[in-house]
Amino acid sequence: MSQPSRRGLADRCPGVFSTHEAADGAVARVRLPGGRIGPDQLTLLAQAAAAHGDGFLELTARANLQLRGIGDVDAVAEAVIEAGLAPSSTHDKVRNIEVSPLTGRIGGIADVAPVAEALDSRLRTEGWSAELSGRFLFGVDDGRGDIRRHRPDVCALVRSVDGPDIVADILVDDEPVGSARGVEMIVDALLDVAHMLVESAPGTWRIGDLTPDERSAVEERMGTRLPPAVRGPGDAAPDDAAPDGAPAVGEPIVGWFDQDDGRVLLGAVVELGRIPARLAEFIAAVEAPVIITPDREILICDLGEGVAETVVRVLAPMGLIFDATSPWARVSCCVGAPGCANATAPVREDLLAHVRDGEAIGDREHWVGCPRGCGSPAVPHERVVADPDGGYRTHRR
Ligand code: SF4
Repeated sequence: MSQPSRRGLADRCPGVFSTHEAADGAVARVRLPGGRIGPDQLTLLAQAAAAHGDGFLELTARANLQLRGIGDVDAVAEAVIEAGLAPSSTHDKVRNIEVSPLTGRIGGIADVAPVAEALDSRLRTEGWSAELSGRFLFGVDDGRGDIRRHRPDVCALVRSVDGPDIVADILVDDEPVGSARGVEMIVDALLDVAHMLVESAPGTWRIGDLTPDERSAVEERMGTRLPPAVRGPGDAAPDDAAPDGAPAVGEPIVGWFDQDDGRVLLGAVVELGRIPARLAEFIAAVEAPVIITPDREILICDLGEGVAETVVRVLAPMGLIFDATSPWARVSCCVGAPGCANATAPVREDLLAHVRDGEAIGDREHWVGCPRGCGSPAVPHERVVADPDGGYRTHRR
């Protein structure tokens, strides 16, 4: 079903410098390209959430972190700047880059972190890119298909490595439009698509908001600039993209995983998809790289076995859930009432009671307080919507 056009509508997506005013205070979203955050940065955000927010860091469906209930937005902005997580005030909201979370550590055809870093760097310095909507999504998929399934507006899907070069197909809203070789050409192609959107349809949020003619024009122009794509839309990822022991695409990255280099990666989830500030400070104290995934998982990477065992022993009792069978690995929610004035139910409270009562959670569920469906996963799921007359109704999305 096609979406109603959102062209020209104000994009109220929050950032660090333009917060959203909710019923429980301001909301600031901190973009983390690739979901990556260092220990010192996590400490600063946790301290800001404790001092100026509601005491939690919320995990978003685009692998970002969000602070809510903020009383002093300037103090939070200063903390985010100090952490180096808002390097450009003009481009703060456009750094929406999803990257295969396990890339370079477990499986995948190639490590695509350098592509994501180069893309973020260029995105922040191009003048035109400040005009992109805060909803436009870049994807960098290391060949296993995990980011592609989130259907970014434009996605580089690695298909091979040729000598020193990564070779990737370029997908526009999941349609292959050509291929690119090497980091520079891949980044150029991703930015070209975004630039075309800004130039040809100003005020348009996403590729899906283009008219069919506008969309065809983008695809045709990219087709003339790039060599043909190799992989078609239905192609599966090659077997070697997800080696034995790696979580299959779509399965929670929760538990203990052996990295390709012999070190350990721990994946965890938290109740209601929000990390208490104190727990976040303890995660940071491990002094290991942390990655937030678009499925609201927290990955603690590059650990020795002894350290990993200690992390599980200390942080599990504090609320970090390392059990892939936990309902919290499959369910998320919006803030609901009273934090949001549109909500017709206290969603968090209801979901907590539902889980603690041992009620069933489906394959993947997202609970919301009204049909706007904030924070919904990009992948197929059950949306559980509060009914103004009481109770909840479930729809397949
Ligand atoms: S889905 Fe509705 S109730 Fe939930 S945060 Fe969005 S607007 Fe508020």
